[in-house]
Amino acid sequence: MSNDFENVRCLIIGSGPAGYTAAIYAARADLKPVIYQGLQPGGQLTITTEVENFPGYPEGIQGPEMMEQFRQQAERFGTDVRWGIVNQVDFSSRPFKVWADDGKAIIAETVIIATGASAKWIGLESESKFQGQGVSGCATCDGFFFRGQDVAIVGGGDTAAEEATYLSKLCRKVYMIVRRDELRASKAMQSKVLNTLNIEVLWNHVTEEILGDMKGVNGARLRNVKTGEEKHLEVSGFFVAIGHQPNTEIFKGQVELDETGYIVTIPGSTKTSIEGVFAAGDVQDHHYRQAITAAGTGCMAAIEAERFLSSNN
Ligand code: FAD
Ligand code: NAP
Repeated sequence: MSNDFENVRCLIIGSGPAGYTAAIYAARADLKPVIYQGLQPGGQLTITTEVENFPGYPEGIQGPEMMEQFRQQAERFGTDVRWGIVNQVDFSSRPFKVWADDGKAIIAETVIIATGASAKWIGLESESKFQGQGVSGCATCDGFFFRGQDVAIVGGGDTAAEEATYLSKLCRKVYMIVRRDELRASKAMQSKVLNTLNIEVLWNHVTEEILGDMKGVNGARLRNVKTGEEKHLEVSGFFVAIGHQPNTEIFKGQVELDETGYIVTIPGSTKTSIEGVFAAGDVQDHHYRQAITAAGTGCMAAIEAERFLSSNN
């Protein structure tokens, strides 16, 4: 690991909507930002097809194309966009020390963490095969494509309950696949689900295979874990809502995390428990998890970094 440090005024970790928006604002404020793209340059939207709810694209846009435009806009104002993963940070004193897998060691006056969160998946081969072709990890994003159709959603927590309720307003029928005989969701969300006529909860069921053809998903094969009985569903959409994992492994012990691993920010800001370190996007948001909210907090983080530098220099 190099100890030959490079000085950076504003280091951004992560290149999704939050990271690139922070970069656009930081570059225009002359902070000469450096951004590390991580394993997934462009972030989560690079694994989806059509994005129809990001303002400014009345006809919708493909996720990878949109993120390419984010990158170009950040570079246009001078952002130094780098390949590579940040693998260690030391926020114990200012300026902060950061190491990346391209061999660089950085002294950063401010850091914006925008490393996102990853949806958890069941782990079936058919699940990855049909991702973007009927399998989705985001009902708010993709539910619209299944208007008037029958869909299934896996999970029994608040997210699954909320997404099942959302889907019930768009779809003809929603099967909620729950692996136990009770929901983990709050009482209020349970009551919503159980009182919605077109949601059918399939208790004690697990998914063995998602079925489909060249056109995408057309069904799922389930098993009742109590009776061993097989069940076949005819659905064109298969949603997975079994939780998200924030990408915060390297920040453990460096900034305050909540009990589920999300970075804690001061409400109404992107400030973390360490002055000069900001967090934006899904890494600090388990509630909205949308590109536009990630971009919004990316903007906030850059403005806050700029103000922090002005008042500390
Ligand atoms: P992410 O997009 O998750 O980006 C995180 C970035 O951090 C990545 O570039 C990654 O490489 C990087 N990173 C992680 N760890 C490190 C590290 N150690 N070092 C350096 N870099 C690192 N939202 C919508 O608004 N509309 C939609 O239609 C929509 N569709 C979606 C479809 C799918 C299939 C999925 C999964 C999500 C969808 N979303 C949609 C949600 C949206 O993608 C997220 O809310 C948004 O991408 C969050 O942005 P972010 O910048 O916080 O993080
Ligand atoms: P969660 O509470 O961890 O629930 C995950 C659900 O998925 C559980 O029902 C779990 O089953 C199930 N599950 C996990 N792995 C599975 C697998 N491999 N196969 C099938 N099912 C599986 O996650 P979440 O619903 O995303 O919620 C995360 C946090 O955000 C919670 O604290 C929640 O309260 C909060 N949240 C709040 C709101 C709101 O207040 N409106 C909305 C969304 C989320 P088991 O129960 O059997 O483990």
